[in-house]
Amino acid sequence: MTQNQPSSVISKAPGTIVQVAVPLPIRRATPLIYDYHLPDGLMAEIGMIVEVPLGKRFVWGIIMDMTPSGDVVMDKLKPIHSWADLPPLTPSHISFLRHVSDWTMAPFGMVMRMMLSTPKAHNKPKPTTFYHSSDAADEGDVKLTPKRARILSFLAQGHHMTANDLAAETATSPAIIKTMAKQGLIAQSATSIEADLRYHDIAHEDLNLVSLSSEQQAIADGLSSHLEQGYSAHLLDGVTGSGKTEVYFDLVARMMARKKQILILLPEIALTSQWQTRFEARFGQKPLIWHSSVSEANRRDYWRACIRGEPVIVVGARSALFLPFTDLGLIIVDEEHEQAFKQEDMVIYQARDMAVMRAHIEQVPVILATATPSLESWVNAGQGSDDAKSRYHHWRLTTRVGHAQMPDITMIDLKRDKPPAGRWLSQSLLSDITRTLEAGEQTLLYLNRRGYAPLSICEACGTKAKCQACDSWLVTHRLSGSRQCHHCGYRQPLKNQCDECGTQDQMRAYGPGVERLAEEVGTLFPEARICIFSSDTAARPEVAREMIRAITENEVDIIIGTQMAAKGHHFPHLTLVGIVDADFGLQGGDLRAAERTYQMLSQAAGRAGREALKGRALLQSYEPDNAVFTALANGDRDAFLDLEIQMRQSAFMPPFGRLASIILSGVNEGEVESEALKLAKHRPAYKNVMILGPTPAPISRLRDRYRMRFLIKAPRDVHIQQILREWVESCRLASQIYMQIDIDPYSFM
Ligand code: ADP
Ligand code: ZN
Repeated sequence: MTQNQPSSVISKAPGTIVQVAVPLPIRRATPLIYDYHLPDGLMAEIGMIVEVPLGKRFVWGIIMDMTPSGDVVMDKLKPIHSWADLPPLTPSHISFLRHVSDWTMAPFGMVMRMMLSTPKAHNKPKPTTFYHSSDAADEGDVKLTPKRARILSFLAQGHHMTANDLAAETATSPAIIKTMAKQGLIAQSATSIEADLRYHDIAHEDLNLVSLSSEQQAIADGLSSHLEQGYSAHLLDGVTGSGKTEVYFDLVARMMARKKQILILLPEIALTSQWQTRFEARFGQKPLIWHSSVSEANRRDYWRACIRGEPVIVVGARSALFLPFTDLGLIIVDEEHEQAFKQEDMVIYQARDMAVMRAHIEQVPVILATATPSLESWVNAGQGSDDAKSRYHHWRLTTRVGHAQMPDITMIDLKRDKPPAGRWLSQSLLSDITRTLEAGEQTLLYLNRRGYAPLSICEACGTKAKCQACDSWLVTHRLSGSRQCHHCGYRQPLKNQCDECGTQDQMRAYGPGVERLAEEVGTLFPEARICIFSSDTAARPEVAREMIRAITENEVDIIIGTQMAAKGHHFPHLTLVGIVDADFGLQGGDLRAAERTYQMLSQAAGRAGREALKGRALLQSYEPDNAVFTALANGDRDAFLDLEIQMRQSAFMPPFGRLASIILSGVNEGEVESEALKLAKHRPAYKNVMILGPTPAPISRLRDRYRMRFLIKAPRDVHIQQILREWVESCRLASQIYMQIDIDPYSFM
């Protein structure tokens, strides 16, 4: 690696020691910092991104502080190896990293690594070679072929071009051009060019703008009075199809007029393609899309544009929150209630919460948009509890746009209207599908289970097909001819033989997945055009886009889909939504089961009747009187939230109490157990802090590692991180044991 010497920071600064935070995953209260000395000629700044030797490697870190060398013998320190050709990170960036690290208890180095996730961005892009005509060229006696002559006469017009572009313009080839440059017939020069990613002004008259309804306009105006007024947080709360997106687009437009950076977080990449089309229609340009599978070259360009403070709009999954914006004006979190905002590995964080934190640090407004607020945001908006202090402004959109009405929701009692064995659709639902087909309208059957069947049992010996690496069943996928573990991704070819007893043709599938449901629907409605919409069938964005197009244009009669089909889409011909197993999410009963079920089902039901046609949703359930369903059927979301609040409040559960989990894992079962017991011996004794465990985690083995879990529960005013920190630092665990701390867990596996 070569050293950069950006001219702006060169100066003689002898005898300075710099303290550099390094990206080691060591958990401690403060960043892990090592001393280095400055190479001659580098003037350091706090926040500068530098590459330093660490053991045998070089790693990227951040200069956190600087001190004069005093009596330190400089030879003992290693020098900084290279540094980024960029402005330093700002105090806000560093403060954000510290806050995330303090809150999540993840090592500062790991949090820092999320921000420095694009090392290629630290240096200018490689220079690009351009060809142009040469003054000194002496064609002499060289005989020009027609191609060479074309190139010369084209360049003589004053063009500057890459070999590829030039070859395309002149119908020649890059090889000829490069040879000509070598022979001195044409000149070449190399320059680094940075992509220009700035958004441009929108000419409103060119765009097909909707005019906001008076309700929407009032909210847009109210929200905009907070722009450029420092930090403020807003819950934009409106039923699906009420125009929340239009409202926040209006705010984006106002922020664009101020040339500020804008960040929009969406829960899933899968949702971005439709969203992007809409954005382009509204603004006549593309936003920068950020997620893990964006090309390296784009990541580099986007990252650099952010830290240089250029006016860009970034739309991304949660990791976009760690981009080094330096001129941020607004953060929007769409579908704020979505669980996908919680990152479950490495640094375990809730991106929505951290977005609010970042907005606070950057002193900018943050808008959380949703049709079904998370309980946390609901309480923060001052709703439903006595001690509520409203930290968020609450804006409500109450009606669907135009003629669209909310769908009617009806329960089907599966105890009375039971499908025959091996079938999943009740008579009532079937009759409604028939009516919908006859009317030429669409049905969505929602079942949040990928594949054909969640469980296979050998009829001969009773063995269940299980994952080799996890404590979980293998799911049969007929379309791809495999059995898969949905936890670790393990897959084996689908065979009809038992792994245990070897008996042939006795493996029997239990329970439905979308593929099996499609089989049933195909048998009952042989004329219907059916499509399965799940992350298996619509894995690739172009396939998903085509599927969405076909549905939108009414080329499909019955969609059988998982949550992927139920979120965010706008299908004009869809009038019936059948929820095949409404009880599914309520089983297992973790903290947020009811909340999640409510959100998911109202999302799914909300797909019906989004335009002039009235929609309806039928929910199949064995406990149709459950409060979740009653609230859904009555369209009384606020009553549901209030009831849920009462339950959480009386149990001192989040957000009225604090919860954390510690999971220890390792490959040796006995060792994980004994280390967990060791940690248990050091458990702190506070009267108001309850520590449950260690017990085997509900998924006691995952990816070949055994897992033991503690759950920690404390009142809201307890600094739970402080207590956990003292606890885990008091006890040294074997190095093969991995400890994962999850503050405010969403997953209880
Ligand atoms: P939400 O985000 O609340 O689900 P959207 O913003 O997606 O709602 O709006 C639903 C549909 O109604 C979209 O097709 C949108 O273009 C349209 N729409 C929203 N507001 C208006 C308006 N004021 N006039 C006309 N169409 C609108
Ligand atoms: Zn597995």
